Amino acid sequence: MRTVSIKDVIKAVRDVCIHANRYQPADVKKCLKEGGAKEDSPTAKEVFRQIAENIDLAESTGLPLCQDTGLAVFFVEIGQDVYVDGNLTEGINEGVRQGYGEGFLRKSACDPFTRKNTGDNTPAVIHYDIVPGDKLRIAFMAKGGGAENMSRVTMLAPAEGWEGVKKFVLTRVSEARSNPCPPILIGVGLGGTFEHSAKLAKLALMRKVDDVNSDPDLAAKEKELLALVNKLNIGPMGLGGKQTALALKIMKSPCHIASLPLAVNIQCHSSRHEEVEL
Ligand code: SF4
Repeated sequence: MRTVSIKDVIKAVRDVCIHANRYQPADVKKCLKEGGAKEDSPTAKEVFRQIAENIDLAESTGLPLCQDTGLAVFFVEIGQDVYVDGNLTEGINEGVRQGYGEGFLRKSACDPFTRKNTGDNTPAVIHYDIVPGDKLRIAFMAKGGGAENMSRVTMLAPAEGWEGVKKFVLTRVSEARSNPCPPILIGVGLGGTFEHSAKLAKLALMRKVDDVNSDPDLAAKEKELLALVNKLNIGPMGLGGKQTALALKIMKSPCHIASLPLAVNIQCHSSRHEEVEL
């Protein structure tokens, strides 16, 4: 059994909240910096130029990439041979408190009815998984309201199959238009139960833009659906163009014989996420 100090957890979470809000992941940054060259429309090229300038400004000034620094979402993998010498959930929330406070990141968490701000961006949304090994992996995502609001879960009839999945995703992206600040990233969660499909869709957003699904059938489906999304001509910031989405990733899980749960989690171009391992 390996011991991980709760102090190290707090510091790692603090640092990752600040860093991820200032620096795009390298794969997303590359797509955004090179995006303009792939567009024909001067407007789309100009949007990509401004996004690239914004990335440079965030890096050089230490200001966040976007004013909406999001709700703090975590996927935590706990090795079964790890012992954390403190309350892990409290430690993660303390890291968020420190990161959002000391990093001057906007606190967006509020009561759903009174809308009273909790004041420190807690509680974080934390998903835990127990895995083999003696490591603690903490993946953070800053999830802004604009993109999250455009996400949906539905329960398709099993007979609707892949055609039904495509129709739902394309309708969702069409209706979302400029609201999630395209070019977007699309996470599709298929199967499981109502809530599990939503978790899979969000987890899919953690994958790298250029990673190829290890399941050849899903890899082909991701490619097909991404091409269809990009034919919608919504383009960067909804002003028209070839790149409505930079990536579309599917994760699936077996489901009930009577069900076909489907979740679409949309992430904006400011796809801020980062992982640490302790
Ligand atoms: S959708 Fe993303 S880029 Fe747009 S305002 Fe929200 S966090 Fe910022």
